[in-house]
Amino acid sequence: MAVYKPFELFLIGHTSFSLPESIDLGFVKDSSDADSLIEFAGRACYETWDRPNPHTASNESYIRHIMEVGHTALLEHPTATFYIRGLSQGCAHEFMRHRHLSFSQLSQRFTPNEDIDVVIPAEIADDQELAALFLEACDVARETFSELLNSIEKKTSEDTAGRVNALLRRKQARQAAKAILPSAAETRVVVTGNFRTWRHFIGMRASENADREVRQLAIAVLEQLRSVSPHAFGDFSVTTLSDGSRVATSPFVSES
Ligand SMILES: Cc1cc2nc3c(=O)[nH]c(=O)nc-3n(C[C@H](O)[C@H](O)[C@H](O)COP(=O)(O)OP(=O)(O)OC[C@H]3O[C@@H](n4cnc5c(N)ncnc54)[C@H](O)[C@@H]3O)c2cc1C
Repeated sequence: MAVYKPFELFLIGHTSFSLPESIDLGFVKDSSDADSLIEFAGRACYETWDRPNPHTASNESYIRHIMEVGHTALLEHPTATFYIRGLSQGCAHEFMRHRHLSFSQLSQRFTPNEDIDVVIPAEIADDQELAALFLEACDVARETFSELLNSIEKKTSEDTAGRVNALLRRKQARQAAKAILPSAAETRVVVTGNFRTWRHFIGMRASENADREVRQLAIAVLEQLRSVSPHAFGDFSVTTLSDGSRVATSPFVSES
């Protein structure tokens, strides 16, 4: 059984921006593609391509102004997509509560039996005794899963021979047996969101009140998004708590 601590996060797609050749009215691309797109969308509302206001004459100050006045619908234009491995089922459930994110998740019915790994929570992983207890219980769950799977497969093949095809029977048996697995069982997702949604997710889940795993995820998402859009995510500050874990806050995003 493999143990993940923590997840692996891959940024697999993000918005690109092409300034239309026919609209070269002084708009200077001094920023990343996503940040430029946000400014372009804002300037398109008033056609202020020549950046007439000195207070918002750079991409950074323009986006800061958007946050200050709450014109955050502009942040819906750029999107980013991640592939994540080593996420617990429990954390994935919290993640999926964010209704504007779009998900594709590893099928429970297709996953080979030998691939059931677990994510060990940081609070347990840090203590050798607790970690051993946790992994022992996971092993019991995994063995019970195998026993259940074999029994269900045997039973359904006897009961429904000829009526349900063998592949479907195996998938149904695997899904039923997986009910015994802990919420620590690993899952994998592809997730896409626009920047307004990612900011809301980070605001809520990078908070001290959030669970450690989803908080780590929110901070890792923030760090990767900053690399493609430093201005749209530049208002978040990351600080370290006394237990060594990190939180991120922004004056423009509420934690609730
Ligand atoms: C620390 C913490 C503890 C939590 N504890 C619990 C718990 O005990 N039980 C529990 O069930 N959940 C819990 N949650 C989950 C929480 O209630 C939300 O479901 C989750 O964080 C998603 O956030 P959201 O609803 O703001 O919206 P998202 O789905 O991320 O949507 C973003 C925003 O869009 C708007 N929006 C989206 N859908 C609608 C709609 N249908 N109608 C109107 N406006 C909409 C809202 O303004 C919303 O804030 C917890 C979350 C945190 C961070």
